[in-house]
Amino acid sequence: MAHLLALDQGTTSSRALLFDPEGNPVAIAQREFAQRYPQPGWVEHNPNDIWDTQFQTAIEAIKTSGITAGDVAAIGITNQRETCLLWDRQTGTACGPAIVWQDRRTSALCDSLREQGYEDFVQTRSGLLLDPYFSASKLRWMLDQDPDLRRRAEAGELAFGTIDSWLVWKLSEGRAHITDATNASRTGLCNLQTSSWDTELLELWGVPQAVLPVIVDSSGICTTTTLLGPEIPIAGIAGDQQAALFGQACYEPGMAKCTYGTGCFLLMQTGTTAVRSNHRLLTTIAARVGGITEYALEGSVFMGGATIQWLRDGLKILSSAGDVEALAADVKDSDGVVLVPAFTGLGAPYWDATASALLIGMTRGTTQSHIARAALDAIAWQVFDVAEAMCRDADLQLSELRVDGGASENALLMQLQANVLNASLVRPVVAESTAYGAALLAGLGIGLFENRQALAQQWRARDRFQPEAVAEDIAANHERWRRAVARSRDWYRPT
Ligand code: ADP
Repeated sequence: MAHLLALDQGTTSSRALLFDPEGNPVAIAQREFAQRYPQPGWVEHNPNDIWDTQFQTAIEAIKTSGITAGDVAAIGITNQRETCLLWDRQTGTACGPAIVWQDRRTSALCDSLREQGYEDFVQTRSGLLLDPYFSASKLRWMLDQDPDLRRRAEAGELAFGTIDSWLVWKLSEGRAHITDATNASRTGLCNLQTSSWDTELLELWGVPQAVLPVIVDSSGICTTTTLLGPEIPIAGIAGDQQAALFGQACYEPGMAKCTYGTGCFLLMQTGTTAVRSNHRLLTTIAARVGGITEYALEGSVFMGGATIQWLRDGLKILSSAGDVEALAADVKDSDGVVLVPAFTGLGAPYWDATASALLIGMTRGTTQSHIARAALDAIAWQVFDVAEAMCRDADLQLSELRVDGGASENALLMQLQANVLNASLVRPVVAESTAYGAALLAGLGIGLFENRQALAQQWRARDRFQPEAVAEDIAANHERWRRAVARSRDWYRPT
């Protein structure tokens, strides 16, 4: 019985999902681990926590499913992206904490390179922007911190990796030091065109080649593990958003998915063309399969479902996130109220750290319901802004958006989104797109599935939201949203 085991290593928890041969999830295990904030703007994970929780969930998922490890045909790995660490090749012990993607400690370094005019070069070569988000500046920081680490890195004694590399190293007991092309494309060190390490980017960041893993395909047997019992191939790897794109079977140019979690992540497949963005979106590797690299445009919204968390925990107008739908449905529209949830600045396509959150258009008649409705509108309009930028960059039309993530359970939000995008939204039967994508990559990697057409056929829609002609005037709402965003910007001035 060829089951596929997906290891989904996220920012706050590690999960393992087991899929049966028909692609149905049959078991899931999840363990949270500690977040460390040693200084303002710093976010760290203990690499041992990451490994321990991930390994334990793998054991638990197999146990609860009732199958044996011998029934696991392959393992697929998907992971929080950009988070990275260094470890000793000899002992396999980490040289310090993993620096998490959210960590801003390298802001000044990125600003200084931007001031020196490097952003265009960085974008052309890597598809990314000069931002602490990506791994390169984090690695540079680690090496600058400790001259001995730099010496050992240059001497080839240390290994660097994003979380996929770390897990593969552990699973293979140090036999494989690899990363897949999608994860490599998030480091800021990878040349998009060749999907290999770029000498000039390494030079810019002061990174020795000797620490870097070998870049492999996202699908295909890259190594094996015997830690679960029998020898099991590791045959699929992708960063979380790329895995979700794969799990949503977005294989043709123009196909796109949006994950509505804490933030919203919109990715559009652009085929074998790496489209350069003129709207501050990222160009990233969607997958490398059979040596062929495919690309995606990506834009992220910082406050997606987190906007609803603010209604619940900040304003305290909800007892649970799920209650927002009923509260917002009490009114026919927001009655002119607009919320710009720039609590941590604005993400794509604005990338504006000076923007402030703003609630505007209130009257004496404004109620909690109007604010709840404005919060849903805000999620929909932020995704619209990214989608619009994407369609312009790629010169493609968005006719359908495949959706997943916790907030995609909100039917009112999905309907509002379909209306503003004027596109249909589709929710899949397998809601766990990220883990599913990792499992599919692994299944494809061992030849369990013939090709991607077979996968596309296996993918099933649960339901669809078609754009509706609504009483609300979408054009007027859009104009109001744009004016509110403009007012939210340029609020915080550098001190
Ligand atoms: P993550 O993977 O980022 O932790 P999830 O996919 O688990 O996120 O989704 C959780 C997010 O979705 C939370 O921010 C929560 O506020 C939001 N959320 C959950 N249910 C709803 C709902 N019915 N309507 C709107 N937002 C929701």
